[in-house]
Amino acid sequence: MMVLMNRNATEEQVQAVVAKIEEHGLSALVLPGGERVAIGIPSAIPPSLRPVLDETLSAMEGVDQVIHITRPYKLASRSFHPHPTEIRIGEVRIGNGHFTVMAGPCAVESYDQLKETAIAVKKAGAQVLRAGAYKPRTSPYSFQGLQREGLEILKAVSEEVGILTISEVIDPHDVDLVSQYVDILQIGARSMQNYPLLVAVGQSGKPVLLKRLPSATIDEWLASAEYLLTNGNEQVMLCERGIVPIDRTYARNTLDINAVPIVKYNSHLPIIVDPSHGVGHARYVPAVALAGVAAGADGLLIEVHPHPERALSDGAQSLTPDAFEKLMTQINAIRSVLEPATVK
Ligand code: PEP
Ligand code: MN
Repeated sequence: MMVLMNRNATEEQVQAVVAKIEEHGLSALVLPGGERVAIGIPSAIPPSLRPVLDETLSAMEGVDQVIHITRPYKLASRSFHPHPTEIRIGEVRIGNGHFTVMAGPCAVESYDQLKETAIAVKKAGAQVLRAGAYKPRTSPYSFQGLQREGLEILKAVSEEVGILTISEVIDPHDVDLVSQYVDILQIGARSMQNYPLLVAVGQSGKPVLLKRLPSATIDEWLASAEYLLTNGNEQVMLCERGIVPIDRTYARNTLDINAVPIVKYNSHLPIIVDPSHGVGHARYVPAVALAGVAAGADGLLIEVHPHPERALSDGAQSLTPDAFEKLMTQINAIRSVLEPATVK
């Protein structure tokens, strides 16, 4: 952390900032510059002290700005945990060189719809069935999901077909309930900054996929992951699902492909790309999915519906089982170029 003083800051103001830093048991280094003084804090600052110092120092007389040199996350960082995290659920491995495909409808609509999709995506090579039982919708009049009935269908289909499941949890009070029915909890984009939900899912210890809020910076996203980690959950994966676009004429969001190598460099957590919400139209989903694979994602989350034209949510971006099967062949082709030793 570095405190940059105003051009006309007095020596007393500089000394007051030094004293405030030292009050917290830290050392301060005064760095006189040509025009103004900077005060560095060379020692490591405990994460809980960072926001306190930020607020108190920013409010002091003569201070222009407080600059953060280190990242606002620690447990999620590569420097703290150099080896990539590997999540193991049954036979399935996520991260650390493994590639995992999670596919299925946006929402559980019926037993028949889910079972038909589960059989198709498993046959094509997906390891996890995705489907929402609780749907966070922009409009309260849109389909809100089958909720508990949806969870029961998910569990039944998972057991009958022999495939893991992922489903979204919206409410902190439902974390225990949803955890009993599915293998991986999904925290949706809109919930990335629902801190009570992050705490509850952190305490559950259940594998979790944390989607990025479309307007969130990478630091804000990783700070949300930090909530899961500090609350005791080590089985955290991140999901890039598109950020706010400058133009919605052609695409629902803009998949931030940069985030894939950036997250891999700065964090040990697996990163999954969701091309379905990322671009929002089935015709573009395969190209965006392949871009995610080529960028080094640890897996994909893809919406597949046996009859997209009848889907109760996100039909326009859902692949048919045939399109998904074709995409899986292309995914394997790209992966064999990237990782010839590990792809069969
Ligand atoms: C979903 O996966 O269907 C979903 C609601 O996604 P997001 O939170 O990314 O909008
Ligand atoms: Mn969806």
